[in-house]
Amino acid sequence: MNPPSDFKDRLSMIDSSGNRKFIIPAEVRGYFQKRKKIIHGILLLIFLLLPWIRLNGEQIILLDITKRQFHFFGLHLQSHDAPLIFFVLFSMTMALVLVTALFGRVWCGWACPQTVFIESVYRKIEIWVEGNYLARRKMREQPATLKTTFKVILKWILFFLVSFIFAHSFLAYWTGGVELLQMMGRSPQDNQFYFWLVMGMTAIILFNFGWFREQFCLIVCPYGRVQSVLLDSHSVTVMYDEKRGEPRKGKGVGGDCVSCQRCVQVCPTGIDIRNGVQMECIGCTACIDACDEIMEKIKKPKGLIRYKALTEKPIRWFRPRILAYSVALVFSLSGLVFMLSHVNGIRAELLRAHDNPYTVLTRDSQSIVQNHFILRLENHESQNRRFQISLNDQKRLNLILPENPITIESLEHKDIPLFIEVDQKEMTFDGIPVEVDIQILDSSKPVMKKNIQVIGPVVPAS
Ligand code: SF4
Ligand code: SF4
Repeated sequence: MNPPSDFKDRLSMIDSSGNRKFIIPAEVRGYFQKRKKIIHGILLLIFLLLPWIRLNGEQIILLDITKRQFHFFGLHLQSHDAPLIFFVLFSMTMALVLVTALFGRVWCGWACPQTVFIESVYRKIEIWVEGNYLARRKMREQPATLKTTFKVILKWILFFLVSFIFAHSFLAYWTGGVELLQMMGRSPQDNQFYFWLVMGMTAIILFNFGWFREQFCLIVCPYGRVQSVLLDSHSVTVMYDEKRGEPRKGKGVGGDCVSCQRCVQVCPTGIDIRNGVQMECIGCTACIDACDEIMEKIKKPKGLIRYKALTEKPIRWFRPRILAYSVALVFSLSGLVFMLSHVNGIRAELLRAHDNPYTVLTRDSQSIVQNHFILRLENHESQNRRFQISLNDQKRLNLILPENPITIESLEHKDIPLFIEVDQKEMTFDGIPVEVDIQILDSSKPVMKKNIQVIGPVVPAS
């Protein structure tokens, strides 16, 4: 059973029978649109260019899942650096929460990929091929002709091409740009997995940005749903100045709103901002510029729709929730900085091996106590490194290694068996404290020192 036609409590993109209402927003120009164009252009350039920029022969951002190595601007992370991801994600979440509490959905309107790609690529192509919003609305309402069919086909071909480029750019972050080009030069048969992956990504991008559009923000994205709990009366967001605008034309006299509906016409989610802050508002600012256009024409001050807070009192920037979010963000960023400062280029661990804690050997009728350790050396730097291992007490102790110096190639690690031997006569009940020095040859880096205890039975008293 269909809900009554005057049923209003539904999403703006859904009609009274529950079907999609295809929104074709009117084009708008103005102060905010000009700035958004620049920001979107920069973000798109960053997305497209980053996989092709190399630093010291390395791609500056590479998320190589197959090798479990992640490169960020010269920093090399491996799978065991996963706790860092927690701090990265938590910091990003807290930053978004804080920005939302201060400025509403400024992220959605200015920097979210969903907005950037739809507004600055897909809708631009649509306007270029099919004409302005009036022409496109007419096209949807009227039966298809040869000309309109041709336009629709051309639009989808162009949508496919840009989706194909975006899918490849995205994949280049994971495979490496140069490697991706090499794969593209070969037959898809040779790289079937990546071929189908990129085709699948192209299909998803095409569906999402080409057809699904802002429905994603309303139906799929969880962020839009939680924003209402993050906002309060002091949050600055895109709002209609009811005090100034009402009573609007047609509802009385006196207000500045002339009921021209221009703010509704330009809204990509099809809402009327004059009804107050709504979940469907993605903060795109189109209604601000649209209303300013009208205000200019009727010679009234701009800003009937503007960034403002709900309260009429002066905005309190330091509110309890802002302080709580800021503290959480500072903690998380501190954790991140601490973790990053410990992602050394070189790491060394010395652990006792899992076999016997010690072995007593007889060599030349002498009792020798031997302890077995595992030395793990990790080289996260972009050049190979040589390590020289030595003991602080070379007179009493004997160090045995399969090789010394040890070469570890760039972004490699090795687990090396390390034995320390001592004449049993030297053994004490508390063991012998030993300092193992790990020196990186051809480098000014300080010597790494590892302290361990050589244990074993003392010579029984005769
Ligand atoms: S664009 Fe401005 S004047 Fe026109 S209906 Fe919207 S709020 Fe009123
Ligand atoms: S109400 Fe205004 S800011 Fe919100 S989505 Fe619509 S046009 Fe954009």
